[in-house]
Amino acid sequence: MDLSYDEIVGKFEKYIFQTYTRQPIALKKACGALVTDVDGKEYIDCVAGIAVNNVGHCHPAVVDAIKRQAEQLIHVSNLYYTEQQAILAEELVNLTKIDRIFFCNSGTEAVEGALKLARKASGKKEFVAAEHAFHGRTRGALSVTHKEKYRKPFEPLAPAVFVPYNDADAIRRAINGDTAGVILEPIQGEGGVIIPSDDYLKEVREICDETGTLLILDEVQTGFGRTGRWFAREHSGIMADIMTTAKAMGGGFPMGAMLAREDVAANFGRGDHASTFGGNALSCAAAIANIEVIKNEGLVKKSEEMGKYLIRKLKDLDRDYVREIRGKGLMVGMELSIKCEDIVNRARERGVLLNCTSESVLRFVPPLTITKEQLDKAVSVLDEI
Ligand SMILES: *Cc1c(COP(=O)(O)O)cnc(C)c1O
Repeated sequence: MDLSYDEIVGKFEKYIFQTYTRQPIALKKACGALVTDVDGKEYIDCVAGIAVNNVGHCHPAVVDAIKRQAEQLIHVSNLYYTEQQAILAEELVNLTKIDRIFFCNSGTEAVEGALKLARKASGKKEFVAAEHAFHGRTRGALSVTHKEKYRKPFEPLAPAVFVPYNDADAIRRAINGDTAGVILEPIQGEGGVIIPSDDYLKEVREICDETGTLLILDEVQTGFGRTGRWFAREHSGIMADIMTTAKAMGGGFPMGAMLAREDVAANFGRGDHASTFGGNALSCAAAIANIEVIKNEGLVKKSEEMGKYLIRKLKDLDRDYVREIRGKGLMVGMELSIKCEDIVNRARERGVLLNCTSESVLRFVPPLTITKEQLDKAVSVLDEI
């Protein structure tokens, strides 16, 4: 299996849905914060599978756990119990302080579960979501995703109202007798790394308590140390009634979860929700090892420190087309007054992978294990171009 770049791209063009705009490189292997393409060229990865590879690519502890588990038990149905799911569930409840967990395989699936649970628990149908929110591509998650281009062809979707992000009063006004829940990202990712004011989530929590509305926090992108906390809700000290997470959960292995407070979770009884692969032994083994690494290597703290370092370095660039640099931990956005596509291309040619979101925001979500030297190199490449 040693296809050339052209052979690989040829097969993609011939056989695969053309739903992604892909960068013109084919990646072959990776280690830590470095990825290597089929021609042997190395890149510093400031994308990390979009906030997935928090512990770095192919972390030896995760690789080892996957290998060992694969030799023993890969998958059995949720018709049976497994040790791995039990251990991971306890670990996650300890980390998130939420009572109960439902395992799935992706972010959008976690959000689907959260929306279904909120509907069943409340007996109501409508959701309040934020402008520029991104919650996934399946039908329920898409209903609370804001972007017109993603939604339009699939309407009618489930009922949702969108209010400006970072405006708690707008949420108060939007809640009515049909509201099943409010769903928010604690920091908006796809929307352009939008960080709300310190009090926003606290005020939303109060409004939800006053009105008896369920609050769903979507931590699919912000989880597992990404923002300098285990979960971004910790910045505001509030709890969600229902929470979703996925991306960085399995150390690169597909994994997701929906969690809920005990009395909310109680609304899902036997047969109310299911997932064939959800929480299978292999994905749970990967997630257990991933959490171990985050703890053992102090990556939550490191994320906070390196995030500050990166923001300082980016601010030092001091270019007039930079509108704002913002972030928490290693979730950093650099908003430009120009489109960033060209910068992404030129950085890649010079060996740095960057992501552009909302057209003009360069998003930095590197592995939390990235070194200062690697960040320095990435910033100096930006400086050059
Ligand atoms: C990526 C993302 C999702 C969707 O996750 P998938 O695994 O791609 O389905 C949902 N919510 C947020 C906040 C995300 O960043």
